[in-house]
Amino acid sequence: MISTASICAPASGPASSSSNKTIGIPIARGGDFLVRIAPPVRPLAPSAAQNGPRSRPVLELRVSKNVLASNSAYFQGILGLQPGLSMVTIDDNGSNRHALELWLRAAHQAEVPKMLKAVHSRHVWNTVAVGKLYGFLPLEAPAVKAWFIDYYKETLQNGAYLTPGVARTLAYPCAYFDHAEGFMKLTKFLVFNMNDKLYSLNTSDYEALNNEARLLDAPLLSARLDVQDRLARELDHPLRKLHQATCACRKETAFDYEDALAAIGCWPIASAFTRYTLSQILEKLGTFNFTPDRKDCESGYCRLDFNKSVRIAITRTKEEFDGLCLDCMKRSKAPQAGQARKEYIEKNSPFKGCWDMDCRYGHAQTTWRHSWTGSPTDRRLILGADRGERVRHRELERERAREKEATAGREWAPRGRRSGRRRSHFSMGNGNGEAAALDGAEHEDIDDDDEFYDAEEDTYLTEDIAELNVRDE
Ligand SMILES: [Zn+2]
Ligand SMILES: [Zn+2]
Repeated sequence: MISTASICAPASGPASSSSNKTIGIPIARGGDFLVRIAPPVRPLAPSAAQNGPRSRPVLELRVSKNVLASNSAYFQGILGLQPGLSMVTIDDNGSNRHALELWLRAAHQAEVPKMLKAVHSRHVWNTVAVGKLYGFLPLEAPAVKAWFIDYYKETLQNGAYLTPGVARTLAYPCAYFDHAEGFMKLTKFLVFNMNDKLYSLNTSDYEALNNEARLLDAPLLSARLDVQDRLARELDHPLRKLHQATCACRKETAFDYEDALAAIGCWPIASAFTRYTLSQILEKLGTFNFTPDRKDCESGYCRLDFNKSVRIAITRTKEEFDGLCLDCMKRSKAPQAGQARKEYIEKNSPFKGCWDMDCRYGHAQTTWRHSWTGSPTDRRLILGADRGERVRHRELERERAREKEATAGREWAPRGRRSGRRRSHFSMGNGNGEAAALDGAEHEDIDDDDEFYDAEEDTYLTEDIAELNVRDE
């Protein structure tokens, strides 16, 4: 007589209808355990009845008890309590049979047949839900990750392509299946292409996943606010310069600049943010065209290249956020058991301005900040130390510049005559050639005068206006 257990089955009566056809699937050759997925005697819910699980055949998956116990926390628990058990019956709820078969095949490193291929994001979410329910780990079942990436690529290349709907349904599964490239790409896309506050969409019937998927909303929303803030500051840049000018035409130029932005729906920028996504605004800004006719402007500020300034704003905004980084998220979780706090802080700190050390994909500081999953105190500590290091670096640079000036016997240009904006030279490129930015929350520490002093020599010097107009971006 075999020993059996029924999971989620009604307390009385047989686990399934005896009239249902049975399909035996030998996943492990000579397997010593049977996972039986059978329709419940009574439907769990009206929707389950409509899906018709009662009419589906019973699946009998022959597996290895050892493999099952070492790959699934759930089965490990059951087999720990009943070592002699040789079969479990699991209710077919209409969403779990393919997912469970997939996990069992992956755990046994068995072939995954084409009929298990995902054709809808619901299948992906069901697989995530079943994996969590039975304690399977995607990193220990690489075939499941490969199965997901197949669906991801198929969808982005041949299916619906990259739309907000696709990104909403696949961002969280990318995190679950540890697909760092997809996760970074989709989370960046969401920040630039959605104005909603609910970024993640669970398309399965497993409502328990809603809360976990919601964890992405807060970092993505705060990233969007950061990117919007960057764009607003970049568009304000010419206005700040005009406020420093003394020429008679400065007010009219400032008004005309705003008017040109308003003509393409981008001014006031705060109201544009409520109407359009960041991508839509950047597209509109791509058509910006404003050249004030102020040849006689005595300060030179009204003859700056406003079109170039907006082009720089577009580039900087696009570079502001690279998407969320799974490696930073994992690394910044509270110190692991046995990991000293000092080591934890060091591992999460930037190296010479590089914020993507040991990450699979390059990114700047904004991504690091929004991917942080540790305590706010540690995050502040790391950012504070970095800020201090950059201040020391800037002072050193100024000191060197002063020595150079003294040696050359020249005097400094009057304060305020030089201005401009640039990314910090202290930032270092990463493996992908992307520049780490001096950005986000850091800007509040850098006043305009600092920017003046840090500005490149060729930027916005009144006598160098012509040169500015031809300077490479
Ligand atoms: Zn002027
Ligand atoms: Zn990272």
